[in-house]
Amino acid sequence: MAIIKTEALVLRTIPFQDSSCIVKLFTKEQGKISVIAKGARRLKSNLRGYLEPLNYIEAIYYYKATRDIQTLSKVDLLRALFINTTDIESSIFGLAVLELIDRVVHDHQHDAEVFDFSVQTLETMDRYSDNCRVLFIHFIISIAGILGYRFETDYCSRCKNRLSAAIYDSGTGQLVCQSCGSYLSSPYKLTASDLQFLNNLHKSSLETAINPMTLPASPDRIIYILLAYLAYHIDSPLNLKSLSILSELSP
Ligand SMILES: [Zn+2]
Repeated sequence: MAIIKTEALVLRTIPFQDSSCIVKLFTKEQGKISVIAKGARRLKSNLRGYLEPLNYIEAIYYYKATRDIQTLSKVDLLRALFINTTDIESSIFGLAVLELIDRVVHDHQHDAEVFDFSVQTLETMDRYSDNCRVLFIHFIISIAGILGYRFETDYCSRCKNRLSAAIYDSGTGQLVCQSCGSYLSSPYKLTASDLQFLNNLHKSSLETAINPMTLPASPDRIIYILLAYLAYHIDSPLNLKSLSILSELSP
């Protein structure tokens, strides 16, 4: 048995028995793991209040490779994200980042690059809540790139001509030009300015992504296309619950 001390993001917390919780963490040292926080729901517990989603913590736990659930020993709060924001939308996109991590990162897949990038994205979303949509699109594109599925926006996947506008072909998981995609009844269309926006975002770091950028006419359509693209390549559906709340809030 080893004692692990690591930075972590709280992804989910589920009540367990009378006073405990099972907590899904995305840790810097060991990737995604589950821990049991014994007695965490008791009033006097020193774990109480720290295990909420969107908290960035330092966790100490006992690790045994043969166990599915590790035992949490101690937690320090490094930062509670989105607690000062009055903008519900930015918290929803923060939760969408957590949900996406939960879906695309495999258990125990240790990836400090994804971890650091996730924390930086959430901190930036928290500070620049007006930009949460752009930052979320930037997050999906970047995660897709890190996982080896770079979203190609320059050339048609079929005829290899440069794309001016594009259609997402859900059968191949790639973009095609309008003439190659003329037979598709796909609702996933990207205009020239959508592609320009995505190209700019491809080249952007988190710092430059928050600079005023002309938002595409329907950023939510771009989000759905990118999620469909990523879902195709990881071979698992990505209907994020957090974003379904968002569409319920919209008029
Ligand atoms: Zn083509």
